[in-house]
Amino acid sequence: MVKHPEAKAILDEYIEGQGKRKTPERYTVMDIVLDMDGHHSADEICTMMPPKFPVSRATVYSTLSLLDEVGLVFSHQVQGKTLYEAAFGSQPHHHYICKGCGRIWDLVNKNVEEAAATCRTPRFKKMRCSVYIYGICNVCYARIYRLNKKLEKQRIENMTREEKRFARIDKELAESSMWLKAGKKEKGKRKTNNEK
Ligand SMILES: [Zn+2]
Ligand SMILES: [Zn+2]
Repeated sequence: MVKHPEAKAILDEYIEGQGKRKTPERYTVMDIVLDMDGHHSADEICTMMPPKFPVSRATVYSTLSLLDEVGLVFSHQVQGKTLYEAAFGSQPHHHYICKGCGRIWDLVNKNVEEAAATCRTPRFKKMRCSVYIYGICNVCYARIYRLNKKLEKQRIENMTREEKRFARIDKELAESSMWLKAGKKEKGKRKTNNEK
């Protein structure tokens, strides 16, 4: 018995059209993926397979790409990895991604949906919108702060590869217009708080 018969119907129709085989393993992968929370790599999804009912890595990978093609999962490219999340029955949402650690968070924002729905796209029919906001999380920001402290004493040539990567992110952050705008707003807020 599959847990998601409606999703199964969508997948079946596609598999039949492609002349591919309908195997019970595919539905096991489908059910597990549609029930999972958050965003996971194919390798992580492999570890979620029930031990009593082994599913090969190849089947997990090929089923994920089928689910992606029919729109039952969304895939996200994060730091060279593909992360999957259930799309079936989920509410429309966007994402923000940390450039330091690669963590990804959901962003639900009506303004983004509205901007996408109302913006003009000449000679083009819109279907869906997916926004990614790239930046730096608090944990990684603290790491950059510590790195800058360390750099006051240490020469740049002595930095590790990872430290160099974070130094590049810091430079990008300093040049980011989005961050500058947010920073100004914050300062403005602080001022009004002091005035109270
Ligand atoms: Zn981070
Ligand atoms: Zn998501």
